[in-house]
Amino acid sequence: MNGWHETYNDYPGPDVVCGHLATIAVPPGPDPAVACVDCLREGTMWVELRRCLVCGETRCCESSPRRHGRAHYDQTGHAVIANQSGGEPWGWCYEDGMPLTPDVS
Ligand SMILES: [Zn+2]
Ligand SMILES: [Zn+2]
Ligand SMILES: [Zn+2]
Repeated sequence: MNGWHETYNDYPGPDVVCGHLATIAVPPGPDPAVACVDCLREGTMWVELRRCLVCGETRCCESSPRRHGRAHYDQTGHAVIANQSGGEPWGWCYEDGMPLTPDVS
């Protein structure tokens, strides 16, 4: 649904289903944003970038000092994000701890 599906049928559990696929409003594909807006404002540096698949905003990853992507989820409830730093495309649901894969790459 909406261009993304769960990467594994039985992870983290056979009966666990990500209910957030329906909230995805941004199709797979790179976002033109190349910076975390919150890092720019605070003068911090990110490690990698993640894009919110609900509103399309780009913020930094869990390994970044300020974890703005996680903060965005905490503030907005937007649970699903996608890698924005190149390589194989993948997504993640913060709430379910569930890896996601685009339907087409
Ligand atoms: Zn979910
Ligand atoms: Zn940041
Ligand atoms: Zn968002």
